[in-house]
Amino acid sequence: MSSLVSASRLVGRVAIVTASTDGIGFAIARRLAREGAKVVVSSRKENNVLNAVNTLKKEGLDVTGVICHVGKADDRKKLFEVSEKLGGLDILVSNAAANPEVGSVLDASESSWDKIMDINVKAAFLLAKDSLPQIRKSKYGRIVFISSIVGYEPSDILGAYSVSKTALLGLTKAASSQLARENITVNCVAPGIIKTKFSQPLIESESAREESLSRIPLGRLGNVDDISGVVAFLVSDDGAYITGETVVAAGGMSSHL
Ligand code: NAP
Repeated sequence: MSSLVSASRLVGRVAIVTASTDGIGFAIARRLAREGAKVVVSSRKENNVLNAVNTLKKEGLDVTGVICHVGKADDRKKLFEVSEKLGGLDILVSNAAANPEVGSVLDASESSWDKIMDINVKAAFLLAKDSLPQIRKSKYGRIVFISSIVGYEPSDILGAYSVSKTALLGLTKAASSQLARENITVNCVAPGIIKTKFSQPLIESESAREESLSRIPLGRLGNVDDISGVVAFLVSDDGAYITGETVVAAGGMSSHL
């Protein structure tokens, strides 16, 4: 689908996409680069970064790789050092998430709760905060958080994770309000069930897949490009008058998983 992209709305922009060596993040990185942005690609594992960068460079895209575990301050700092070298940051897409445990919210262990909140919420907050020195200098400042449909309607089996994704809806509203007068937009995307490694437990067995599909009015699971196109729209000039919003891209799904 994304091979049909012919828009070049992001020429001259520099973008950071976290957790962008696989899944939704990789598709976002590829899409922003196809639209002309210089994209900083990152994740925790060196091999994944090298593979993703090689793949995208072979497609003629302008990408730079750096190792970044979003929970590590030194790694986050490196992201911004790279964007600075590329001319300064215009677009931050905070996409990384963790879900170490499946189960109801009050059954979550304290260590799982801490990890989920550290990666999904605190790191997103710190990345947005630390992006400001560069993003404030951009004429096109854009911040996008990746939440989830379960941020609206918590899932019984993804209890603590759902709460972390609800926090991102609030972070989007609060940060957008703070930054609106500076012409920096802050938005959020809430995907439904998208085919990636992350969603494997919801789709790998025939019965789980059928159960998931039964909840999706459009009758299909989402593809990563169903999300990357929404992000590209929000960070382009076409999305310039949108801030503080969360776009749900979930095939019409609204109930819990
Ligand atoms: P995925 O396919 O499992 O992709 C994971 C990517 O994240 C890999 O590149 C991985 O690389 C990187 N990563 C994992 N932990 C990281 C960390 N702490 N710091 C930096 N990078 C990290 O996941 P996905 O499905 O694309 O999910 C992306 C986002 O969409 C998440 O925020 C998720 O909550 C959200 N979402 C997904 C779905 C869905 O159905 N898939 C639905 C709603 C929301 P390394 O292993 O090298 O770090």
